[in-house]
Amino acid sequence: SLQDKLDKALHNISGRGKISEINVAETVKEIRRALVDADVNYKIAKDLTKRVQDKALGQNVLTSLTPGQLMTKIVHDELVELMGGTSEGINLSGKPSIILIAGLQGSGKTTFSGKLANFLKQKKNKKPLLVACDVYRPAAIQQLKILGEQVGIPVYTEEGALNPSSIAENAVKFAKENGNDVVIVDTAGRLAIDEQMMNEIKSVHYFIKPNETLFVVDSMTGQDAVNTAKAFNEALNFDGVVLTKLDGDTRGGAALTIRSVVEKPIKFISTGEKMEALDIFYPERMADRILGMGDVVSLVERAQEQFDEEEAKKLHKKIAKNEFGFDDFLKQINQLKKMGNMKDLMGMIPGVGKAIKDVDIQDDAFKHIEAMIHSMTPEERRRPSIINTQRKNRIARGAGRKIEDLNALMKQFDQMGKMMKMMQGPQGKQMMEMMSK
Ligand code: GDP
Repeated sequence: SLQDKLDKALHNISGRGKISEINVAETVKEIRRALVDADVNYKIAKDLTKRVQDKALGQNVLTSLTPGQLMTKIVHDELVELMGGTSEGINLSGKPSIILIAGLQGSGKTTFSGKLANFLKQKKNKKPLLVACDVYRPAAIQQLKILGEQVGIPVYTEEGALNPSSIAENAVKFAKENGNDVVIVDTAGRLAIDEQMMNEIKSVHYFIKPNETLFVVDSMTGQDAVNTAKAFNEALNFDGVVLTKLDGDTRGGAALTIRSVVEKPIKFISTGEKMEALDIFYPERMADRILGMGDVVSLVERAQEQFDEEEAKKLHKKIAKNEFGFDDFLKQINQLKKMGNMKDLMGMIPGVGKAIKDVDIQDDAFKHIEAMIHSMTPEERRRPSIINTQRKNRIARGAGRKIEDLNALMKQFDQMGKMMKMMQGPQGKQMMEMMSK
């Protein structure tokens, strides 16, 4: 990870030393390389590292930190600030609120329109209306109709109409008459910027006066994404950016570059083709991603090292036959313990590392759980369903725990069983794939 590299480059400062000009030069190069690797524009990376260097110089390296950690923290904070610090919502104050979706063809506009409608319906209790304004590609209208059906949201279309502005205006009227409080207007895109397209979207923008104009851009297009963002911003002065296809290998540096160039907040990120794959943009998380911090990958790798294929097959069979019992639960715990120190493991989960820095986590967190399981009879471990109140009292007493502790364990066990069932289905596969990215 970047942090390790910085630690290596800064190896000559230990403990209470100060970061000095001599040992910072190499680390600055490492940081710049990491940022450029993550798709951050070179000039922005250069400016940023200069500021980081100034901030780091002369800072005391505390005994609790390594110089690499300290530098990473400074870079991280700088990234967060560059991306706006906090996440920004969208303007839903209109009656109805009109949201215009703009971007190049293939950027993910239509998919995002469906996701946003779904999000507003599920999370904000809204009654959205989707509007298909692509008069050139009947397939695009069809696609929006299918998405609308999938998420249970009406789609306004005008068969054979040729003027996107009038379709959009009619749609707003329709929304007012039908009690839709949000109108999401999906527009036509081209493969590249061209004047006709810009004029058309400017005209739609002028006629419907959206409360919120969102520019959708494919994060995999790297530097081109920035130029497109500039052109759309000049034409529409949009309110926010939606970064799509962040489920791929891209580290998300484009987010930083776009933000710096157009000075507009990124509001959503899209991470897949499914309607649920939409997230609010958090600068903090994106900074982690850009720096490759919160090392989930190595967590997964460690888990894989401990993974015993034969055992796993047996376990799968047991779960399928509903025979997963407390003995298997114990085995799982032991495997988890073999993966290493609990605090180290948790520290690898993004966002957790910093939070638990000062928390004392006992490595024997599982001691009580094991005691309770050992206090059960073999039959009880095999068939937990037979554990009634009388048995519970005996088990808890035997382990020197309270009945509440045992209840909590039983609940955990239940949930684990459910989760394991799920992990075996298609959803689980998807989750594992996501985690290994
Ligand atoms: P539009 O032309 O801008 O409306 O783009 P579409 O919404 O039709 O998306 C173009 C393609 O990208 C489609 O195949 C989508 O399924 C796919 N797509 C959209 N968003 C994402 C995303 O976040 N992740 C991935 N992997 N694919 C996406």
